[in-house]
This record gives sequence, structure tokens and C-alpha cells, in this order.
Amino acid sequence: MRLILSQRAQKLSSSAIREILKVTERPEIISFAGGLPSPETFPVERIRASTETILNTAPMPALQYGPTEGYMPLREWIAARHSTGSLQIDPADVLVTTGSQQALDLLGKVLIDPGSRVLVETPTYLGALQAFSLSEPAFASVPSDENGVQPEMLTPDLLNGARFMYCLPNFQNPTGRRLPLARRERLAQIATEAGLLVVEDDPYGALSYTGEALPSLHSLMPGNVVYLGSFSKVLTPGLRVGYLIAPQALHRKLVQAKQAADLHTPSFTQRIVHESVKDGFLDGHIPKIRQLYSQRCEVMLAAMREHFPKGVTWNRPEGGMFIWVTLPTSVDSSQLLEKAIAEHVAFVPGAPFFANEPQKNTMRLSFVTVPPERIQHGVAVLGALLKRELS
Ligand code: PMP
Repeated sequence: MRLILSQRAQKLSSSAIREILKVTERPEIISFAGGLPSPETFPVERIRASTETILNTAPMPALQYGPTEGYMPLREWIAARHSTGSLQIDPADVLVTTGSQQALDLLGKVLIDPGSRVLVETPTYLGALQAFSLSEPAFASVPSDENGVQPEMLTPDLLNGARFMYCLPNFQNPTGRRLPLARRERLAQIATEAGLLVVEDDPYGALSYTGEALPSLHSLMPGNVVYLGSFSKVLTPGLRVGYLIAPQALHRKLVQAKQAADLHTPSFTQRIVHESVKDGFLDGHIPKIRQLYSQRCEVMLAAMREHFPKGVTWNRPEGGMFIWVTLPTSVDSSQLLEKAIAEHVAFVPGAPFFANEPQKNTMRLSFVTVPPERIQHGVAVLGALLKRELS
């Protein structure tokens, strides 16, 4: 066979995280690497009951092809959920996607030409960099600090010709940062003035540990934002149901791109999600997820305070699944990872999350899938390793 790959395929590489996850499937490894939600939070009985109801009451449409835009009752539920006093969302603006990852892929396809400028945070979600990269953009990194992206850094030079800016205002992957209200407002003001399209990716927004939420960028400038949501972190990722909310002109193009990609998100899983959430189930369920994650976050923070040497710094997340660690510049976290895996602990090195100029002395720790004793043990192992590196 003569296999001639497209230039695009030749440039593809596997995500560093997926590669690490293969190693971490070994049971002896304490893994802080995955971005997976905790399976303890999966509402198995609820999903079982929903599935049975659907098969008993509407088996034919659930097992049939459906519209590309998605199952209308689910679109209506999503529109209602994201409507606020001042912002009323039309279900026609909602597109159900096969995970929000597909929304990123579709946006890349309809918005990016080779060389197009795409603005991203520093660092940003690796899966978005991967999805957009297929369309060969020129990424421009917007500087960020411990509070997230810095709107003041959006100079006219940087904004010039940008197709869109990709933002993660809530408990960002990989840093766990949440963008403060004043920055959201300033970003909305700058984007509106510049006519800049903002892609707001918000899979973690509901996972604030205190339950208190900040206004979405979408609510601050609805005409300028494509909002991406997902059921992966509040229900289960295996059903692969996410969604986007987009202004009509863009929505139409995204529907066309989705038609070509997969015709539609499975009718069956969309109905399972809808049946599971339609009666307010999430309002009781999400607080349990928040509680579990915030407890595990506390355990990890306490262990880090106890075991990590001076010179290592990290943030205190207010929600979500990640802590971002900055090591002294002499330490390359991918080399550290090899040594950590030899001692049965894994994490994700920070470098792949940077579109430009990787900071190799950073790492992402996820605490949600690891029981408390193993968090303590894993952090102690990492701390001892770091002390040896720095001595
Ligand atoms: N965006 C972000 C920021 C994520 O962290 C993830 C999952 N790790 C996704 C999108 C994709 O999620 P899904 O496709 O499961 O909705």
C-alpha cells in the first residue's frame, strides 16, 4: 500500500495528555494527570431510569436519525438555563454538539484560514490548540497573570485582523483560574469596541466551590460571543453531549460544518441527557460534585503546603478540577515527570498548554479522581522529588 498522508495529517501529533493517560491507567500509579471528572459523581441510577423511560416511551425517535441542530426539547432546556433577566436566549441559537470538543473543531473549520490570527490565553486548553491547529492558524498569546487573561494587553496591534479570541473565564483548564468581574467587563468593552468575536468555553462554570457565579462573557456582550457548554463535567462525559450558543449567521455555518462531520449528535444520548436534567436534577446534583471537588482540592493544597519546597508556587482555585504549579525556572517539568512516573506518580507538564513560548517549569495537577490518602501520598512523593531536584 502506498500511504500518502495530507500535509495536515502529517502535522498532527497526539495530545501529550492522552499519551500520559495511557501510562497512568496502570493501577499502581497515583495520577494527577487526567482531566477526567470523578466517576463517583456519575448519576448511574438517574441515567439508567432515563434510558428505560426513553426506551419505553419513545424508542423509535431515540434510535432514529435526528436534526443536525439537535433535539428541540434539549435545545429549549439549554436556552432557558442560560437565559437571565436581561438576556433571553432563543433555542434557535443553540446547536447541540458531540461534546464541546466538537464545537471547537467546528469553529476552527468555519473561522480559520491558514495564517489567520487567533488570540488565546497564556496558557490555554490544549484540546482547543489541537482542534484549531488543523486549520493552521497563527496563534497570538494574550498575556495572563494569576487572575487570568489581561484585557489591557489586547493592543490594537494584537487585535488587528484577529478572527476570534478563545477564552476560558471559569476555572480554566489548565490553571484553575477564574477571571475577576472587572476583567470580564473590560474584556467585553474592548471586544465590543473592536468588533472582536469571543469564543467562551465554559465546561467548569457550574463547579464553583461556593456556588456563587460571575456573569459570563456571553451575558456581558451576547452579540459578540459564541458560548460553549457541556454536560461532561456536571453529568457524564461518556454520553458526549455538549452545545454552543451562537449568533444566527455563524450558527448556520456551524450547522453546515456539523452536517459534514457527523450529521448530528446521537439522538439517544441527547434524549438521555434531556430526560435526566429536565426536572431540575442538576440543581441537586451539582452541589454534591462541588463539595467532593472542593474537599479534594483542600486536601491537595494542605499536602502541598506541607511537602513542597520553597520556590514552588501555586494558586488556590475557587472551583473546577485543577491546580497550576510553577517551579523554579531551573526545573523542566517533563523531565520531572519521568522521574515521578518511576515513583508511581503522574501529572501533566505545563508546556503543551502554551501556544507560543512554553513555560517548561509549570505543571497541572488534577485532584478530583484521587481519594484523599492517595492525594497526600502522591504530593509527598512529588515534594520529596522536588526537594532532591532543588538541593
Ligand atoms: N473545553 C475544555 C476547557 C475542556 O477542559 C474540555 C474537556 N477536558 C473540553 C472543552 C471538551 O469537553 P467535552 O467534549 O467532553 O464537552
